[in-house]
Amino acid sequence: MTYAYDDQNVFARILRGEIPNDTVLETGMSLAFNDIAPQAPVHVLVIPKGPYVCYDHFAAEASDAEIVDFTRTIARVCEMKGLEDGFRMISNAGEHGVQEVPHLHVHILGGRVLGRMLAKG
Ligand code: AMP
Repeated sequence: MTYAYDDQNVFARILRGEIPNDTVLETGMSLAFNDIAPQAPVHVLVIPKGPYVCYDHFAAEASDAEIVDFTRTIARVCEMKGLEDGFRMISNAGEHGVQEVPHLHVHILGGRVLGRMLAKG
């Protein structure tokens, strides 16, 4: 697979400090911030700082250090947000996945029973 990264996407602009974000946690390689349009009491987005379009791009091409940092950041967010009762993690990819922002992000959703699936208009 080949992946074309668009560095004008909104999360790239957040990473460059061009637009603000509501940071939950930042590490050297990852950023977690609250979703601007939360769909649950907890709705955090976790992104790598590197230019990866989607999860399969990241999984295939990111360094081991980036993958570990991203994964540990997800764990720390779950702990910080008190998600002991569970959560849902979603990563949309591409047209069929209805991905709106073409920079890898995982949604961490929790704070209520989410139902079997999430639907969006
Ligand atoms: P997706 O459909 O998986 O690409 O989800 C993109 C998510 O990014 C949506 O849940 C949006 O609400 C969220 N989003 C878009 N712009 C911002 C922003 N500036 N700050 C925080 N979240 C955003």
